[in-house]
Amino acid sequence: MNKRKVVILGGGVGGIVTANHLAEILPKEIEIILIEKNKIHSFAASYLWLMVNKRRMQQITSQLRELVSNRVNILFEEIKLIDAQNKTVTTEKSNINFDYLVIALGASLYKTHLDKHQSGIHTFFTFQGSIELNKALQNFKGGNVSIVVSSLPYKCPGAPYEGAMLIKDFLSKKLKNNFTVNLYSPEPQPLPVAGPELGNSVKEILNKKGIGFHPLEQMTSINYTERKVEFASGNSVSYDLLVIIPSHKTPDVITNSGLVDESGWIAVNKDTLETKYENVFAIGDVTSITVPGRWQPDKPMKLPKAGVFAHSQAISVSKIIASRILGKESKELFCADGFCMLEAGEDLAGFAYGDFYASPHPDVKMKQLGKLWHWGKVLFEKWWLSPYGLKKSFYKTLLEAGGKSLRIPINL
Ligand SMILES: Cc1cc2nc3c(=O)[nH]c(=O)nc-3n(C[C@H](O)[C@H](O)[C@H](O)COP(=O)(O)OP(=O)(O)OC[C@H]3O[C@@H](n4cnc5c(N)ncnc54)[C@H](O)[C@@H]3O)c2cc1C
Repeated sequence: MNKRKVVILGGGVGGIVTANHLAEILPKEIEIILIEKNKIHSFAASYLWLMVNKRRMQQITSQLRELVSNRVNILFEEIKLIDAQNKTVTTEKSNINFDYLVIALGASLYKTHLDKHQSGIHTFFTFQGSIELNKALQNFKGGNVSIVVSSLPYKCPGAPYEGAMLIKDFLSKKLKNNFTVNLYSPEPQPLPVAGPELGNSVKEILNKKGIGFHPLEQMTSINYTERKVEFASGNSVSYDLLVIIPSHKTPDVITNSGLVDESGWIAVNKDTLETKYENVFAIGDVTSITVPGRWQPDKPMKLPKAGVFAHSQAISVSKIIASRILGKESKELFCADGFCMLEAGEDLAGFAYGDFYASPHPDVKMKQLGKLWHWGKVLFEKWWLSPYGLKKSFYKTLLEAGGKSLRIPINL
């Protein structure tokens, strides 16, 4: 056991789970450092509820320190440089060397269009954006709401569809019929990686709710004065309220790290999440993973950027790192089973689940809308934002009550 320091970059979903899981399985003498620029963590899946008055700000945020094991040293600093070859990370204040590195820095959003609230442009893809959009929805007097996915890829493939349904539900309660909700996306169908059957189910739900869906529409520009969005197809749409899913990119510190491939994201081994540098791993939204199967021969697909994968990748990588440190053989492989509770308004949600590494194409199914899936999402939110100490004692009590054979589908 000659390697002693694990450094985790980014204290979002992937970073928190990696830190806590390693804290549980590594001997105490191994140092675990987590570096994150923000002291407050917000739960992104709940931005949708924040937007439609179903949550207050304090209900979806927590001090990061409370969510992470005391065994982990957290540095609240901005990372400026990653030198994977020489195994060092530079922040605004320190130079830190590492033996093992886990990069979980997520995706950044282009800010273009996002300071244009006065022109009726909003987003629910950020915490602050959801607060502003909530105000705009409360003051909305009627007209056209257009939800536009500005480019691919974006995180959480279900989010624009959930957003559209929640906005429709919210406005229906206050405005009756003098408004429309339309969604425009460059995708050929909702959640394309999940295949045509699932896409058709989502289209059917949108249709029943009276939401227009416009596939294969790539936004090219916004005319702020005329309040009009132009698309590459030559089509355009006038809006009274425009909700943008902003373009995503790797954080700047990654762009110059030598870790990105031609896709602009970090290429990793799809089973071990290791980058081209030994003992340097990347997980979550910052990665680009080609899914083995495909729906159409000429169209390779990527694993969606989603918290559920950041979470399970964090557990796989923790196990691999622990095995290497302890000098044991590791059989751990990331398996890409994933699920998503698709919020549909009226406290209902669909449940999509499956194996994204299946061949000849991902095998993903969807259960009908039900209250159960909605409450499952609510429970997960409460669990995620609970202090680490509470989660740990709850987990231990369950294990003791059920015995070691009880398989609890949660991981610290
Ligand atoms: C509206 C919305 C709804 C969603 N709903 C779902 C859902 O229902 N299910 C699901 O699975 N996923 C959902 N997601 C997606 C999910 O939130 C992300 O996929 C997940 O957070 C990715 O985890 P990550 O660890 O890769 O990145 P993140 O959680 O984004 O964490 C990255 C961290 O790195 C930090 N960081 C970045 N750069 C630096 C730097 N230079 N220095 C220091 N720190 C830095 C950031 O501050 C951040 O804390 C949703 C996303 C949105 C926006």
